Amino acid sequence: MGLSIAYGLMKKGREAHVLEGAYLNAGSTGRGLGVLKERNPYAMGNGNEDLVKLAREGLRLHGSLSSVMGINTFHKKSGCLIVAKNEQDLRELREDHEHFVKLGLKDIEMTPEEVQAKWPYIDSESILAGFYSPDEANAHPFGLVWAYLENLKRMGGKVEKENKVKEIKKTSDGFLVKAQSGDYEAENVIVASAIDSSGLTEPLGYKIPMTPMRKEVLISEAVRPFFGPTIERLSTHLQVTQTMRGEIMGTIDWMEPGHDLSENTTQFLNNLADALVPVVPVLRNLNVIRQWTGICDLTPDEKPAIGRLEECLYVCCGFHDYGVTMVPIVGKLLSETIIKKKTERMLEPFDPKRFD
Ligand SMILES: Cc1cc2nc3c(=O)[nH]c(=O)nc-3n(C[C@H](O)[C@H](O)[C@H](O)COP(=O)(O)OP(=O)(O)OC[C@H]3O[C@@H](n4cnc5c(N)ncnc54)[C@H](O)[C@@H]3O)c2cc1C
Repeated sequence: MGLSIAYGLMKKGREAHVLEGAYLNAGSTGRGLGVLKERNPYAMGNGNEDLVKLAREGLRLHGSLSSVMGINTFHKKSGCLIVAKNEQDLRELREDHEHFVKLGLKDIEMTPEEVQAKWPYIDSESILAGFYSPDEANAHPFGLVWAYLENLKRMGGKVEKENKVKEIKKTSDGFLVKAQSGDYEAENVIVASAIDSSGLTEPLGYKIPMTPMRKEVLISEAVRPFFGPTIERLSTHLQVTQTMRGEIMGTIDWMEPGHDLSENTTQFLNNLADALVPVVPVLRNLNVIRQWTGICDLTPDEKPAIGRLEECLYVCCGFHDYGVTMVPIVGKLLSETIIKKKTERMLEPFDPKRFD
């Protein structure tokens, strides 16, 4: 998010300086799956349509990023199939279907037989239905970060790694950002540090309530590319996709809330295998190569906090497990908000001060 906002500012002739506390991709971006979805399942009945608008625009912009930026983000319009495994899944997905179709999204209900006819590796007996979007896609988060980084550098932007911000202080003509490697004067400050954002804004009087939700991911050995759409089951948070190198990458369930990135469980391996193998039996003997944990920053209303806290101070966090999809549109809209000193319409529902 930080790189995308800096990119938006520099494209419009502003100077931008990004301070990254660790290494690029150290946060959630480098730990996610890179699934790009517009059928966002959160905040249903409480502004979901605002999330969907953002996701939809993000998804659209991702489609042309590689050519706009001149760097391959490994974007692929592979689609996404949400499966119903039981009657409750089916009821919920049919309600979602009505809602998403009203919002103009593609959400095609398919019978198990139709699913298997289109993707023969999916066992029709393991599902009751599938809800398919051909528009949803994938990108490689590292490619995305690299694209923003190289474009920022080309425009003369500065990105410093291993330079953690310790404190932000208000001064008479702006802000003083106190970081590990020194102090920086800034006219505008944008805090885009995911789950750590509130630690920087709270001393200035702005608490952003967020729960750190830990989530595990695994990746397999590479196999011949055969996977069509990402496969999801919303009730268990199962999400499985194939990378362009052929690895199968997946996640399921949540861990206890917390900040520990070092814990990886065999329970997760078992749960993912138990959920996935019946649906895609051909994966039965796949070797798992690596497993890791990431943190999702969840706000109480499941929506992100994006925008102005006070004159020249902004925040951009709370993207839970859907932020990569929104990176290009949020960077565009927040940089426009900063330059015009007026919140863009699409960002209004995400006012970071709504939790006061
Ligand atoms: C397991 C998992 C799977 C996911 N899958 C998907 C998916 O398939 N699709 C999708 O759209 N989204 C997905 N997400 C969500 C997505 O990864 C995030 O919403 C998105 O990456 C958030 O981007 P960000 O820039 O806000 O945060 P981050 O990528 O976490 O970046 C924040 C950066 O701030 C830095 N930082 C923190 N504190 C400081 C400080 N004091 N000073 C300087 N720098 C600091 C961190 O080092 C970090 O690099 C997933 C997330 C996880 C954890």
